[in-house]
Amino acid sequence: MTIGIWILGDRLTTKQLTLQNNQDRKQQTPVILIESSNYVRQRPYHRQKLVLVWSAMRHFAAELKADNWQVSYEISADFATPLQAWIRQNQITELQITSPCDRPFFKLIQNLDLNCAITFLADNHFLWSKDEFITWSKSRKRLLMEDFYREGRKRFNILMDGKKPIGGKWNYDKDNRQPPKQNLQTPEPLTFKADAITQEVIDWVKQEKFSDYGKIEPFNWGVTRQQAQAVLAHFVQECLPNFGTYQDAMITGEYTMWHGLISPYLNLGLLEPIEVIDAVETAYYQQELPLNCVEGFIRQVMGWREYMHGIYYHQPEGYSQSNWFEHHHPLPEFFWDASKTEMNCLRQTLTQIEDTAYGHHIQRLMVLSNFALISGISPQEIENWFHSAFIDAYDWVMQTNVIGMGQFADGGVLASKPYAASANYINKMSDYCSGCQYNKSDRTGDKACPFNFFYWDFLIRHRDRLHSLGRMNLVLSHLKRMSDTEAQEISFLAAKWWKEQKT
Ligand code: SF4
Repeated sequence: MTIGIWILGDRLTTKQLTLQNNQDRKQQTPVILIESSNYVRQRPYHRQKLVLVWSAMRHFAAELKADNWQVSYEISADFATPLQAWIRQNQITELQITSPCDRPFFKLIQNLDLNCAITFLADNHFLWSKDEFITWSKSRKRLLMEDFYREGRKRFNILMDGKKPIGGKWNYDKDNRQPPKQNLQTPEPLTFKADAITQEVIDWVKQEKFSDYGKIEPFNWGVTRQQAQAVLAHFVQECLPNFGTYQDAMITGEYTMWHGLISPYLNLGLLEPIEVIDAVETAYYQQELPLNCVEGFIRQVMGWREYMHGIYYHQPEGYSQSNWFEHHHPLPEFFWDASKTEMNCLRQTLTQIEDTAYGHHIQRLMVLSNFALISGISPQEIENWFHSAFIDAYDWVMQTNVIGMGQFADGGVLASKPYAASANYINKMSDYCSGCQYNKSDRTGDKACPFNFFYWDFLIRHRDRLHSLGRMNLVLSHLKRMSDTEAQEISFLAAKWWKEQKT
């Protein structure tokens, strides 16, 4: 029997079971990595995403080779052709693969016509396995993230004082919502120069025109585990002490502020979630960092990331087609070209994403996703855009984040109310409105901010549905004070905006 290992592009870690289990016979174990151009042509991925994944794969393959694994690296239109040839050549009888996170990719593998047995080994790149999450979910009436997060803190003994949370509270989110101040001194992100391998991938992506979305250079991302570890160390040293306080703030031209830029590496397997959590917890004890900063970050990794992964498997496959509000507008053209919108918050955020393939969580949730929700864009169209545009996006993370959290299209499986907001929120948490041609205070009239008339139109259109959620009743009560004339004008402006849109 000959075992062969197929390393997937988002599992670039020697800790995966396929490699761990065959460590003793690595010189006799064929390993393959494959770049498939057909696969990436499925959607217009940001070009930096393609460079990141393929360069990281090529670097990882070189590291495995240097460690005496028998590595083949194939660049092909499809996956099947190089796999079949490699299986034949090496007389492989069993193909071992780390169970893919993304359901569509899992199906793709199951449908491959390969002349050997396929064994999926458990993915150990999350703190909670799929089965552990399902077991936890069975004991709950509602799958609240906060409950899951607390369970994780206890289970892995993170920021705990015996059975109680350190500091006496589980969650310091209220301390992490400071609006931006003038002249904040933000740290420089750690960036990397493209080496020969990365430059080769950049040239390849340009030449083959896999996508024309996003700037490809400057490409500043790390592509190896060593670089990912350096990003983690930089975050802990330079950003963590202030991470929490201005976590939700947005400032023109400030792309990263105190954010970690760690998610692309976590999602590729270049960093392990537990090592990230341990590094942050250790810094808390050794450097006496503010608890709101440390807890806020650990909640992102131990809470949200794990929870989103668990929910993705917990929900049936049809989850991706959820559309509770029955929103069907197509994605406006400006999502692919920021210069085509005059809404400054969207223009700044979309320009930043074109430049870097990155935006932080509030830009994602309260600018982009919020706009899609209140204006009535199809949840599937906006999810596809998020999946294409962001450097850290995969099916497992975007379905739940965008369909569930951002669009409330699942009717409340993972959020208790929609994240819908008017210009009021954006103005409070950013400096975008001061540079905008729209008036942040107007919901009707020539200069009315689209976030305002869409927000109120959203409440008007979905009044009955939103009443059923309970938590929206206070907000809905404001509708009673709105005259019929104003409500009609708001609906007219929303309809007119869509008529004028290019999609
Ligand atoms: Fe965005 Fe409206 Fe503010 Fe302009 S005024 S930046 S469109 S929220």
